[in-house]
Amino acid sequence: MFYIILPYITLKNIFTEKIALLKSLTCVIIMLNEHKFDKKDAFMIVMHIDVNSAFLSWTAAYEMQTGIERDILKIPSVIGGNEKNRHGIVLAKSIPAKEYKIQTGMSLMEARRLCPNLFVAPPNYQVYVRASKSLREYLNTFTPDVQVFSIDECFLRFTDLGRSKALSLAHGIRRGVYDNFGYTVNVGVSENKLLAKQAGDLEKPDKCHTIFSEEVEEKLWPLPIENLFMVGRKTKPKLNRLGIYTIGDLARSNYNMISSLFKSHGRLIYNYAWGRDDSTFKRRDAIKSIGNSSTLKFDVTDTETAHAIILSLVEMTAWRLRESEMTCRVVSIRIKDKDFNYILRQKKLLYFTSCTNEIYKNICILFDRYWNKRPVRQLGVSVSDLELANFQQLSIFKDRNILNNEKLDKVVDVIREKYGDTSVIRGVFANNELTPILGGYPEDEYPDMSSTL
Ligand SMILES: [Mg+2]
Repeated sequence: MFYIILPYITLKNIFTEKIALLKSLTCVIIMLNEHKFDKKDAFMIVMHIDVNSAFLSWTAAYEMQTGIERDILKIPSVIGGNEKNRHGIVLAKSIPAKEYKIQTGMSLMEARRLCPNLFVAPPNYQVYVRASKSLREYLNTFTPDVQVFSIDECFLRFTDLGRSKALSLAHGIRRGVYDNFGYTVNVGVSENKLLAKQAGDLEKPDKCHTIFSEEVEEKLWPLPIENLFMVGRKTKPKLNRLGIYTIGDLARSNYNMISSLFKSHGRLIYNYAWGRDDSTFKRRDAIKSIGNSSTLKFDVTDTETAHAIILSLVEMTAWRLRESEMTCRVVSIRIKDKDFNYILRQKKLLYFTSCTNEIYKNICILFDRYWNKRPVRQLGVSVSDLELANFQQLSIFKDRNILNNEKLDKVVDVIREKYGDTSVIRGVFANNELTPILGGYPEDEYPDMSSTL
């Protein structure tokens, strides 16, 4: 009996001890997991800020500040280029204009057909840039980590904020923007940029929403597939043909099939459908290029006109470069002919510059070398390999002339900011119909906007 009981007691003790040990281990694991969750909770909140109908909101706020009594947000109105030009399109629309089925990107002529009383305000890029900058400065008071995504979109990162407090802070920021500037924003809250952006798009205007990873199935999956970031007009029909109509359909589809059909883009959107995004957080100085392009009113067939158009595009590009307090070392030209063939060429300079004349001169050299004399339908210029203006090294290749021109550019910038874009224009534009400063901030000028987060 003794021999039987002892092992039994011993065994029982060992068994009980093991259970106790297992229980305590489980507790430790649960505690570790909770700790991990707490850590995640406290260390990574990303917010996406998006100005509602930015160009229109900023114009309305500007008009109000300058004492103009109408409120263009409350009437059918749009921001758009010159109605007579080929590139006169709707850049932003008011909610009353939306009721007439007016859409962004529609030609102004078409918009006017839908609503004969439509109020069309011309774009004012100087106002937009100032508004965008003031918004960024305001957002910087909440966190130093502000990543500019486009002229009216930013990501904020908080490394010391719990999830529980995130939504109330998001509402605080939304109200703060309205109280300080008089326009509304959407705020999306999550743990990565992709989900924060998707959350910000859930419901507009003037709203805050969250999509944390555990909310993906409930909030992201029921949405139509075209609402997923990076699923564009070309990818949507291809996915539809595979029976994928919602983001959930994509998430539940076969990864290998999506990967083999759509390659890296397929793998990216598949991961996005699951709310996975491991892109790094880039601050403002990570802007890689600044550019400007325009579809021309007429097909250009001579070098002189092409150079004048390049100059008007460079005026805006170089001004934006200086406005961002940057300099560049690479200049590029994009020439699209009337048959939609296009040539893209770039040139590396021996020095960093923000000088309009230098950028213009070098882009003209590229144009003259690579233009194949076919009628030109669209021209684009851009500058890259950017460096903060404050940190650039002095170069022996920069002569006094360039340095003087850089100073002159800054003076002209100040005058234009105060008295309008056309207060100072180049002589070449004085007696012809060409626009002295072309272009602004179409979405595709932000490389980050159309490719990665
Ligand atoms: Mg917006």
